[in-house]
Order: sequence, then C-alpha cells, then structure tokens
Amino acid sequence: MNYFIDVIVPIPIQNLFTYSVNKDEALFLKPGMRVTVPFGKSKVYTAIVFSVHSQEPGSYKTKEIEQILDEKPIVTELQIQHWQWMASYYMCTLGEVLRAAVSKAFLLESETIIALNNTIEIDDALLNDDELLIVEALQLQKELRIQEVQDIVNKKAVFTMLHRLVDQKIIVSKEEVVEQYKPKMVKFVQIHSNFSLPEGLQKLLEQLATAKKQKEVVMHYFTMSSKSKQPIQLKELQQLSNVSDSVIKALENKGVLEIYELRKDRIDFDGEEIQAIKNLSEPQQKAFLEIKEHWKSKPVTLLHGITSSGKTEIYVKLIEEVLKNGRQVLYMLPEIALTTQLINRLKLYFGDKIAVYHSKYSTNERVEVWQNVLNQKEKAQLVIGARSSMFLPFQNLGLVIVDEEHEPSYKQYSPSPRYHARDAAIVLANLHKANVMLGSATPALETYYNAQNHKYGLVSLTKRFGDVKLPDIELINLRDSYHKKQMQGHFSKQLLEAIKKALSENEQVLLFQNRRGFSPTVECLTCGNSPQCPNCDVSLTYHQHKRQLRCHYCGYHIAMQEACMACGSSHLDTKGLGTEQIETELKSIFPDKNIARMDQDTTRGKHAYEKLIEGLEQGEIDIMVGTQMLAKGLDFRNVSLVGVMNADNLLNYPDFRALERSFQLLLQVSGRAGRTSKQGKVFIQSFNPKHPILQQVVSQNYEEMYNMQTVERFDFKYPPYYRLIKITVKDRKFIKMQTAATWLGASLRNVFKENILGPEQPPVGRIRNEYITNLLVKIPGNQSVKKSKEIIRKIERSFLSIKDFRSVKLTIDVDNY
Ligand code: ADP
Ligand code: ZN
Ligand code: ZN
Repeated sequence: MNYFIDVIVPIPIQNLFTYSVNKDEALFLKPGMRVTVPFGKSKVYTAIVFSVHSQEPGSYKTKEIEQILDEKPIVTELQIQHWQWMASYYMCTLGEVLRAAVSKAFLLESETIIALNNTIEIDDALLNDDELLIVEALQLQKELRIQEVQDIVNKKAVFTMLHRLVDQKIIVSKEEVVEQYKPKMVKFVQIHSNFSLPEGLQKLLEQLATAKKQKEVVMHYFTMSSKSKQPIQLKELQQLSNVSDSVIKALENKGVLEIYELRKDRIDFDGEEIQAIKNLSEPQQKAFLEIKEHWKSKPVTLLHGITSSGKTEIYVKLIEEVLKNGRQVLYMLPEIALTTQLINRLKLYFGDKIAVYHSKYSTNERVEVWQNVLNQKEKAQLVIGARSSMFLPFQNLGLVIVDEEHEPSYKQYSPSPRYHARDAAIVLANLHKANVMLGSATPALETYYNAQNHKYGLVSLTKRFGDVKLPDIELINLRDSYHKKQMQGHFSKQLLEAIKKALSENEQVLLFQNRRGFSPTVECLTCGNSPQCPNCDVSLTYHQHKRQLRCHYCGYHIAMQEACMACGSSHLDTKGLGTEQIETELKSIFPDKNIARMDQDTTRGKHAYEKLIEGLEQGEIDIMVGTQMLAKGLDFRNVSLVGVMNADNLLNYPDFRALERSFQLLLQVSGRAGRTSKQGKVFIQSFNPKHPILQQVVSQNYEEMYNMQTVERFDFKYPPYYRLIKITVKDRKFIKMQTAATWLGASLRNVFKENILGPEQPPVGRIRNEYITNLLVKIPGNQSVKKSKEIIRKIERSFLSIKDFRSVKLTIDVDNY
C-alpha cells in the first residue's frame, strides 16, 4: 500500500497538496505536524499536515516530503477546523489563513534569510557541530540564505536543525529581525549584593554617614524590600525618599544601587501579591447572574454597559470561574499597545497566569506564548491579545471576551484573510463549546441587532460604578458663534472659557479633532453647508485631480463649486481641520501651558505613544489634542473637560456606517471626561447641532440611535438586513481594469440583478500605480449566503479563464465593513 499526506502550504493556492510518505512516516504523522516539502522547481516550504491517507491523486505525480519537523502537532485539530471555516467563509485559501495564523518562525522556507538573535547570549556547549558551524558563520556574515546553510553543513536536510535554533531563540528569520514594537520599559532598582548582608549594610551606612540623603534612600530601600518581595520600582523609591535624580545617580556611581529595566507588561508577580477580586455591586452582581443565565441557552451574550459602569470587574469574575475549572480564557482587545492600563489591572488579580500576545511582539515572544498555550501551561491560562490572538492553539477554551466589540480594528482589511476577529472568535468558541462575552458601551449595530433578535443574550448596565455621574454633554452652534463673531480661531467662546476654567483648577483637557481618510468633503466656512448627492443620503466627495464632487454610491458627479450652493460664499474648505492647526492655535492662546498632540504623526517614534499617555497620567500635559486615538478605552483620572472641535466632518464621511461610527466615537471620547467623583463636561462644536446623531449623543441614548439607524439600513439595503461582499478589481492599465470590471459587473448582475452596486471607483482610484474599482454584492436575508458565495466563485473562475484578464487582480472581501 502507498501512503500519502495532504498538506497546507503557506501560499495562496486554492487546494491542498499531496506528498508521498513511507509507512513509518504515515504511522507517525498526525494532522497539525510540520513537514518540509519541495515545491515547484527549487523551493522548499514548511507545511502543515492536514491528513494522512492512501488515496493517490489522479492529476499529478506526488513528490516525497523532505523532513518531519515535529514530534507532536503544533497546530490542533480544532484550529484546522477553524481555518477551514475561515477559508470558506471569507473566501480565501487555507494557505492564506495559515500565514496569518502561524508565526513565520514556525514556517521557515527556502527563501528565508536567517540571522543571529542578538538579544541573547549563546552557550556554545549546548550546540552540536552543525549548529556551531552555522552560529559561527552568522557571526561573520550577519545573515545566511538556506542554500548557504546547506552548503556550510554539507547537507540538504537543514530545517529541523534551523527550527531547533529558532526554538532556542538563537536565530531569527530575517523578516522578523526588525522589531517595530517597542514595549514600555520600567526602571527597577536593587542594592548591590555586597551590601545586602547585615555586615555589608552596616559598612555601607557608615560609609554614607556624611551623605544624609543617600543614606535615606538606602534606608527606604530596605524598608520597602522587607515589606514585599516584588522588585522595587525606581520611581517609587525616589518618591518615597523624596530625593532628586542626582542623589540616585551618585549611589549608582558608587556601585551601591543597580538600576535595571523590565518590560512593563512582562513583569513577573509573586503569587502572594495577588489582590482579592472586588465584590460586585448590586447591579453588577445582577448582570453577572443574568449573563450566566443567558449562557445556559445561548453561547454569546452582549454586555451593553455605559462607560465606567464596571464591565471589566464583571469580566474578572467570569474569568475567575473559568480558570478555576481549569479552562483557558481569551480576552481580546482592539489594540494592545493602548492597554497597558488594563493588563496591569488584570495582573493584580491573575498574576502570572496571564500571557500577552500581539502581532507586533517579537517572534521569540510569540513562539513562547504559542507553546505555552498549546501545552496548557499555567502561565498562559488567560491570554490577552489583539485580533491575531484568536489564532493561538487553545486546547481547552472556556471563555472568549471581546472587549469594545464595536471597534473597527477587529477587522483585518488586508492582506487576506479579510476577517472580523469578533465573528471569527465566536466560531472558534463554538468549536470549543466555550461561552462568548461581547462588551461595549456603544455596540456595533449588527451585534445589537442580534441581541434584539435573541440570537445573543443581552445584559445592560445603565449606571456608572459608584454613582459617578455621566459627563454633561453640550452642543455649540458654530454657525451662531461665527455669526456673532465669538470665535477665536476655531474655538467658540464657551469652549475657550471652559478650558481656562479647567486649567485654573489644575485639571486636564482633551480636544478631539477627527481627520480621517483622504477623501475630504467640501464644507462652507460661512454657513456649514456641505453638498449632498441628490440620489443618496451622503455627502459628495471632493476629487482633487478631476476637480469634481462625486457620490460613491451611485456615481453622481458635478464639477467642483466655486461658491457655496446654499449661501453663495466663496469661503469653501476642502481639507478639513487638522490637529496640527488646533495645536498651533492653542499654543498662542496658552503660551505657558503644556500642550501635546496625539495623532499618527506624533506617535510614530519609539515609546512616543507611551510617553504621551504617561505625560497625561502624571499631569505633565495640560491639554492634549488628538484624533480618535484618544477614544480608545483610556482612563485618566484628572481629565475634566473634553472638547470636540468639529463633529461635522465625522457625520459627513461618505460611508453607510458614518453615523453609527460618529455616535460611537463621540460617546467614547465623551466617556474620557470626569471618571472620578466630579462630573465631567463635554463640548461638541458643530455647524449642524440639530443633527439627530448629535442629539442622541447629548442624551447618550443608544437605543434611539439604533432604532433610527436600523430603519435607514433597511431602506438602503445595508447590514444587518443585507450581507455585503466587496469585490475589488485592480490593474496597472486603466482600460483593462475597466473592461474587466464591466464584464464582472454584468456577469454578477445576471444572477444577482439589482443587488449589485458598481463598478464604482473609490476616492483614491489609483494606488501604487494600480487602478482600482469596486463592486458590491448585497445579499438579502432570505438568500443563501453560501450559495451566493458559490456563484461568485463560479463567476470568478470564468473570469480567471479569460486570457485578456490574466493580469487583473481580484480581491474578495466578505463583510467588508
Ligand atoms: P468599564 O469597564 O465599564 O469602563 P470599569 O470596570 O473600568 O468600567 O470600572 C470603572 C471604575 O470603577 C474602575 O476604576 C473600577 O476599579 C471601579 N469598580 C468597578 N466595579 C467595582 C467594584 N465592584 N468594586 C470596586 N470598584 C469597582
Ligand atoms: Zn454657505
Ligand atoms: Zn449618490
């Protein structure tokens, strides 16, 4: 009998590949193990075994595998099932899912370039001869190709050895050598071991007899270390002894103190330091019980709780129970870099059971977490991570929490798989028979819709914890303010006075200025009018190179106006107002205040983001101007005032979700104000304060927003009533792109009739020299999504068989929002 294995190769090919193995290999191999396989003329890939069988493929002659890399699977069977679901649901290949799911460090291939991991010391004694040769070669040459490795050790089969070196953190693959993510470091201090014994200490104190301040630091150090076994933070020691940097420096120079740095989110905790979990308040306890009641019949429950209502403490209780039963917990967050605050809070409760996982972490760290989760290690019982964390090899998942489930960053737009991590995590949980907790103060419309329709359980928290009041939100009519000449720059009189008052009371101010996207709408600076499409309910988008105003939905377009169509003023603004401009104005109004800006430009550098957050936390910054980065779950105790410079450009954004997103963003930004006993104040400036969304923000009325928006979604055929699949057509030649898109549009319309939109050119019609156009397939509730996808696939296959379209690229994005 002949034996074969089907493998997933990490490239975007539609099918599994079959290789031949011998009987022993067939008996040894299991799904989820890695093998290296020859591919094409000269390539070698690390692939994942999908199945072992004896069915020879008819269509091609199988090659033999090169090597088996694992003793036991590194990918679980449930994961492979989950990947299959992803490939089928998101219309991509298993290879693409594999690439997204598994770190490159597990998947060395012939094209990989390896280098030494410079962050660790290598113990030569632990290496065998071949490994030593490679390490020495890398010390001389910095990097090696696989071919060169093969030449050096004079063997073809090198992947097992290389993976072993990767696992031991001795080498890294070149793609990942550059670590973009610089985690926050915290300085710790210890006393040199010479002085830690009583005699040593005695001597030291004598030595410092004349240096009173230095002596005090040492005394405080010993008091602190006798109280707790935790490492001592430099900042705390310094504050406690109330000395300047130079005193510390002097002690360091004398060799008395040693200062070292640890990454903040990786600081180990001693078991004994763990805090007791808080007792829930009455409303929290009620919610907690309701959640568990829902789970009896529905695996997914939405916790709709206003900002600061104590959702996190409820999660903590739920996590505690699941961990106690020996099951794993996945806690997903929209963006991990923004959440050291939360991680530190959870560490107080769960100590070393927490593992943090993020695509920006180094390979080594990710490989370590992967192994710990796979082996159900104690220190990876609770995994906190951004969207990619749901790819970890959970063995026994009991609970998935998706915090801030409405956040757009759960969706991966590019590259494929274009998945939504909340939705994919629900499927994952289902495979594990685990429960899912979705949490938000402003749930996504689709999620709330599912809860309203009893697909998900729904639990609400309507009061802030400890009776802290919700911020008071007030709208300012910019039209009036301009008219009455009460504006100073872009600041209304009310907002400016409120800023002055807050600063005089030593409170901090956040100012929010959205500058999203590159598709400005036109806005009249005199009357606030912004031209709308006559056929659709959206603002027209300004296309600079054509000097046109266009509608993205129906294609309507007019020439750019010289004067406002409403009031005739020629004061038209197309750029929208930027954060930088606001910052400049503030600096001239408040020359002696500390003003900072948080946006993509200012958070690029190392630690830049953390520095800004820390600056705010420690009161160094008086006013912070920022984009929506400010909205994300941050918790600042001393911010009493939030200002939104201009709400209109949010509302005018041409997208069917613009109004929902505006509501979410404005309410979340508002939630940053006054999280302690004093009620926060929020001012929202707008030319159009009567806009229903702004009214709903002021009354903080999610339900009303939901009811109004769902009617619109129904009328205009959008989710949650219709599913959307976006097909993008790209080519370097405009004509070819257009011909291809027209062909595709016609074929789709043949089947889907009026439920096809486009082809419609996006606002940026050319990126990296490729012309782009989009088609949107709308799938009504009573039409099978699965069948619709099959039809799209069929049309795609016909498309691909047309010679003329060979260069044209198609991408399919399921749930493209
Ligand atoms: P949310 O996640 O809904 O924004 P949090 O869980 O962060 O709310 O709670 C807001 C604040 O109230 C936090 O400072 C938290 O420590 C505190 N808090 C919440 N629940 C309790 C509780 N049961 N006991 C003590 N403090 C609590
Ligand atoms: Zn006007
Ligand atoms: Zn239109």
